[in-house]
Amino acid sequence: MKIAIIGGGLAGLTAAAYLSSHPEIEGTVFERSPQLGGRAFTYEKAGFTLNYGAHAVYGIDRHTLRHMEDELGITIPSKQVDKRKVMYAKNGRLTPAPLDFVNIMKTEVLTTMDKVRFVGEVAAIIGNLHQLKNYPTLGDYLDQSHAADDVKELWAHLVCSNFFITPEEARKVSGEVIADYYHNLFLSSRPVNYVLGSWAVITNQLKEKVENSGRWTISVKEPVETILQDGKQFLLNTKSRELLPFDAVIIALPVQQVVKLMESSPWEAAMIPYMDNTCTEVMVYDLGFSTIVARPFHYISDMDNKLFISDVSATDNTVAPENGQLLQGIAYLNDEFATEEERKQYLEKKSSQLEALFDQHYPNWRDHVAVKRVSKKAMVSSVKNIASNRLLPHQLPEVPFYFCGDGCEGKGELAERAFSSARIVAQQLLSQQNEKAKVSSI
Ligand SMILES: Cc1cc2nc3c(=O)[nH]c(=O)nc-3n(C[C@H](O)[C@H](O)[C@H](O)COP(=O)(O)OP(=O)(O)OC[C@H]3O[C@@H](n4cnc5c(N)ncnc54)[C@H](O)[C@@H]3O)c2cc1C
Repeated sequence: MKIAIIGGGLAGLTAAAYLSSHPEIEGTVFERSPQLGGRAFTYEKAGFTLNYGAHAVYGIDRHTLRHMEDELGITIPSKQVDKRKVMYAKNGRLTPAPLDFVNIMKTEVLTTMDKVRFVGEVAAIIGNLHQLKNYPTLGDYLDQSHAADDVKELWAHLVCSNFFITPEEARKVSGEVIADYYHNLFLSSRPVNYVLGSWAVITNQLKEKVENSGRWTISVKEPVETILQDGKQFLLNTKSRELLPFDAVIIALPVQQVVKLMESSPWEAAMIPYMDNTCTEVMVYDLGFSTIVARPFHYISDMDNKLFISDVSATDNTVAPENGQLLQGIAYLNDEFATEEERKQYLEKKSSQLEALFDQHYPNWRDHVAVKRVSKKAMVSSVKNIASNRLLPHQLPEVPFYFCGDGCEGKGELAERAFSSARIVAQQLLSQQNEKAKVSSI
């Protein structure tokens, strides 16, 4: 069986790594860019190792990566961000983030009575007893909840920071999605981790596994432009080659690009329900300093302005030169503006708010900048997981392809959905192949 995988991001590489272990499956991964990794690619600049996108792994002990380590024989070294150095900023004051029982006791974001209430809510989520799962959205639940405003604000803020969205959007996430997500995360003993040495550690191992099989090739700088069906076969046209034959096709792209690839094809109409999905976007402000400017905490989440700063090198010192420091600022973005001018002003305001947060906690940082990268609108998740959007299933009845990526159905959020959806798709194909082998041997 010969399989084509379109897209060499986390999802495409994960699917290829699983499939490459089967002796009767061969294939090609087609990647548009010169490098692999997609939104999780890593680059080196002036001695700093910068992740373009993904940094944190949430709940790594219960994450799909754990299955991948066992099943693919890869190793993901990681380090837990020091929970005592994870802070929330509220009304200009820093206070511990309520990540665990010790921090809940210390934090000032909740009064004593609210702490009791919040601990009760955490216990109900862990026990799968929380009513939240029965509400269409978080907003619907909060509107009827008798909890104090601080507890409600904390719920919205938690969803903002794990889903990378604004509080308005957090209220639109389905109650079931949130209850499921936090059931997993509250049971984790390692809530926020960094992959030591950057996410290239993951993509390099997946790539190696694929290439070492000897049956797979990875072709970079080769975007797929169209797919044709010829009986049971699929013929791919890429930028440089025509009519490449395959028995199955996995599309591992952001949903917006899946829709584009299907334009003017027999499968265009099947994409209509997924065309209007909105994506999650953030502003990214990466800063590499030639010296350690200050290290008051390792992560600070600004509840008032919905921004955060991670001192990435405080947890992973391999990503900065000796005595250097690598910070990443992120601002969650709204996407509804009446005019282009309004949107421009909003982005400028966000950039100033991030700089003000740097000024407050890293005095004179401007004198030590060795590397700076500002990305005004980076796509975090191709489908924002709010109730009005629809994640793409792994298969559609009227379309003969498989789909995976962070805009597809799967476990977890962000990168975990890219990994988990790819793992599911690969397992489906592997079990079909094994069934075929059984039938032909009878
Ligand atoms: C700033 C930022 C911060 C983030 N932080 C986190 C985090 O802390 N934790 C976390 O879990 N996740 C995080 N994410 C999200 C994570 O990076 C993504 O969910 C994940 O990388 C998506 O992987 P994917 O394979 O689904 O898609 P992609 O990475 O988009 O991969 C798709 C690939 O397909 C290629 N392609 C496109 N069109 C074609 C074509 N026609 N032919 C061939 N190839 C094509 C693209 O070049 C790309 O390489 C972050 C993302 C960003 C941007």
